[in-house]
Amino acid sequence: MSRPKAGLNHNRRPTIIPAPCVNLKNQLIEAKFVMSTSASTTLLPPLHTIDLIRKKRDGGTLNAREIGFLVSGAASGSIPLEQLSAWLMASWIRGLSLDETRAMTIATRDSGDKFSPARLGKQAVDKHSTGGVGDKTSFLVAPLTAACGVAVPMISGRALGHTGGTLDKLEAIPGFRTALTLDEFETVLEKCGASIVSQTPALVPADRVLYALRDRTATVECPGLICASILGKKLAAGLDALVLDVKTGSGAFLRKPEDSEYLAALMVATAEAAGTRTVALLTDMGQPLGRTAGNWIELAESVELLRGHRPPQSEDLRELSLVLAGWMIHLGGQAATPEAGYARAETALVDGSALRGFFAMIEAQGGDTKVFSDPGFHKPGATQVVLAWESGFISTMDTTALGWAVQRTGAGREKAGEPGVPGDRSSSLGWEPVDPHAGIDFHARRGARVEKGQPLATLYATSPDLLAEPEEILKQAITFSPAPPQVVPLVSRIFTREAAEAHLRNVVR
Ligand code: URA
Repeated sequence: MSRPKAGLNHNRRPTIIPAPCVNLKNQLIEAKFVMSTSASTTLLPPLHTIDLIRKKRDGGTLNAREIGFLVSGAASGSIPLEQLSAWLMASWIRGLSLDETRAMTIATRDSGDKFSPARLGKQAVDKHSTGGVGDKTSFLVAPLTAACGVAVPMISGRALGHTGGTLDKLEAIPGFRTALTLDEFETVLEKCGASIVSQTPALVPADRVLYALRDRTATVECPGLICASILGKKLAAGLDALVLDVKTGSGAFLRKPEDSEYLAALMVATAEAAGTRTVALLTDMGQPLGRTAGNWIELAESVELLRGHRPPQSEDLRELSLVLAGWMIHLGGQAATPEAGYARAETALVDGSALRGFFAMIEAQGGDTKVFSDPGFHKPGATQVVLAWESGFISTMDTTALGWAVQRTGAGREKAGEPGVPGDRSSSLGWEPVDPHAGIDFHARRGARVEKGQPLATLYATSPDLLAEPEEILKQAITFSPAPPQVVPLVSRIFTREAAEAHLRNVVR
């Protein structure tokens, strides 16, 4: 077994479970023979990436050994990016079977070291969303849940496709570090109850590479790949329980209700089979969540709520965060029901303990919290107010298009990648920083009655030349009607293990 990675404080015993096998040498050994009994040693044929791509392309099903070979090759660098891209595209087109999804999830989890929260002396519970626009619930649920006595070790991602990334948003805070070593992660968790970090070359390295590659190769919207990416990260954090926020509607990766339901059931069943108690909530992404979508502006909106303010445009964000935190607190054993968990979370919001915890976490990760009290900190390169071009009720929002509009202001990147870290394979993909101050502030929500000429949104862009495209997208993405549209529930369905297994049994795919 390899030793835990460098950067450890040798006075402490970090709770790290080292990666079983991530280097090329081990991979080749694994590929040649693994089955050894007292009577005989069974030789397995060597694996070749090209054969596996061809098999998947032609509609075959890869077994766990074959998937493990590809995933560990992604982490170690032994498989070139073009072959990984071809395999991802074949998987996107053909889809992954339940067994392939499970195998890929486990291989992703095991592609690096794993964290064990056992020493924290608390239940460890996390939340992950399948990706949305303006989706900033992590900044609320992590401190709300931690304030109620549940540890939240959160491994997050960067902007993906049209959706924003928790890590990019947090890095808008000057000094904030997302790439912590595992013992730093543990120290922050001990001190603050919550910590939000990135995948690193040591922690879920396969997802660090495949996540960026999927973004570049249009292979994001695949249930099996989404499941392995999300659960690979979450299961590497050694969680006792997990709450999944599965988005549905115009801004979700899987927009149709039946596809998001399948994803929810798939993820719950896969995580439960791996031993983690899991629940998934199907939630509306038919409009941006809350008032803002971008980087700094999303943090500012979250802190406004943590300070106890209740702007009407942010009410859906507040409500969803409390519902998710309620489930986390319940699964973490600190409330008898999710409703009782909601009530505990709301108390932590109102009494300011969640805000104190969030600021403590930011400071423990190197961030400067003074910016949250500095009205001059938000300095976008260019600002423009978009006025309503007709009167009526806002009836539909193409939220995927709105996500691209946000990205085009400079808030997102054209090509996903990771900042260079020594020994990091994904740095070969290159790194484009995002503009912390770019984004869109939406002044009216779906169902609102607006008059022509009324401010509909404010665009914050890196420079004046980046205002025209998002404005045009916005105008195409929002429609008006003479009568109010139907109200869409924020949470439409909840999948427990039983519900997920029943759904998978019934669904014909
Ligand atoms: N979030 C992830 O971490 N991975 C995905 O594939 C989608 C959303």
